[in-house]
Amino acid sequence: MRGLYVHVPFCVSKCAYCDFYSLADRLDLVPAYIDAVVTEAQARAGMSFDTLYLGGGTPSLLGVGNLQRMLDGLRRVFDLTALVEATIEVNPESASEDFLRSALDLGFTRVSVGVQSLSDRELRSVGRVHTAAQAVEAVSRVVGMGFKDVSADVIVGLPGQTPDSLRRTLEGLTSLSISHLSVYCLSLEEGTRLAADPPDDLPSDDLQADLFEGARSVLGGWGFIHYEISNFCLPGQRCRHNLNYWRGGEYLGLGPAAASHLDGRRWKNQADVLAYLRCPLGVVDEVEELGLKEKVAEEAMLRLRQMDEGLAADEMMSRFSKVMMEGLLSRLDSLVAEGLLTCDGSRYRLPRSQVLTSNIVLARVLG
Ligand code: SF4
Repeated sequence: MRGLYVHVPFCVSKCAYCDFYSLADRLDLVPAYIDAVVTEAQARAGMSFDTLYLGGGTPSLLGVGNLQRMLDGLRRVFDLTALVEATIEVNPESASEDFLRSALDLGFTRVSVGVQSLSDRELRSVGRVHTAAQAVEAVSRVVGMGFKDVSADVIVGLPGQTPDSLRRTLEGLTSLSISHLSVYCLSLEEGTRLAADPPDDLPSDDLQADLFEGARSVLGGWGFIHYEISNFCLPGQRCRHNLNYWRGGEYLGLGPAAASHLDGRRWKNQADVLAYLRCPLGVVDEVEELGLKEKVAEEAMLRLRQMDEGLAADEMMSRFSKVMMEGLLSRLDSLVAEGLLTCDGSRYRLPRSQVLTSNIVLARVLG
């Protein structure tokens, strides 16, 4: 499997918690940005991909003409004839009927809607520019248009959020027949407005853990599988683009701040749209050649993110030598002895109790 990710680094305004790379209020740059993405793609002309993911930022701000131009450009350069999934992220305020129709006509099969909450008070508290009613309308529109997979993002730990308000958000979304939910825990990231001035009604760590556990439990009761640390889906509706990433597969990322993993190398583009527009091929940063031991550890760490599949040590041993696996297996066994991982036969998994502190456990897997 090989995935293609295209970053769309434009937003209406910056949400208070967001540390993703995007520029607010610079839609004047979009036409030149599409040209730059196609120029960057041309350096890899002829490659084929199994999945496509247009993320951001806010891809629904591209508008119909620019989306069409981007897809036409990518199709001229790459072989996208065998895509098994094509996802586009949209935000409620810009997910118009025309835009979604165009996405469907261009072959997108999966839409991920940035809902975050169905409480207007919670949305306002973190500077989201849409209302709960707009979010419900956008999700209903996407579902009604017949996309194969529909996902919504939800944040746990918003200022003033309670178990009841979170449950109402989840109930409201699942009643619209979505098939996938990404549930992220709010964190105070350096450089964000929220970190600079945290509100008094931010849930404590304990409350956030209870909120997440409550969400996990109600979603489980409604048939959603907790298949990755932050992701839930109905049977058969996993995001294949992200599964490829969590299984250590290859991917090419286009655009500023996009990451790539191809031919045993990993790199990331600089997070700088203006530099990218000047020279789309000149912003590569942080090139890393992965040694075999690092590759093994990284794949193990990514596989453990998958709550139900976990890491099958015997399967990895069939691909990597015993010497390569030795250090990793001893780290995994120590984590099992400390109760931070479970082991069933030769399959290691992250237990539910470690979901919110998974970063610490996974860092130890990396060694
Ligand atoms: S819309 Fe998304 S990418 Fe843009 S600022 Fe808000 S959270 Fe960040």
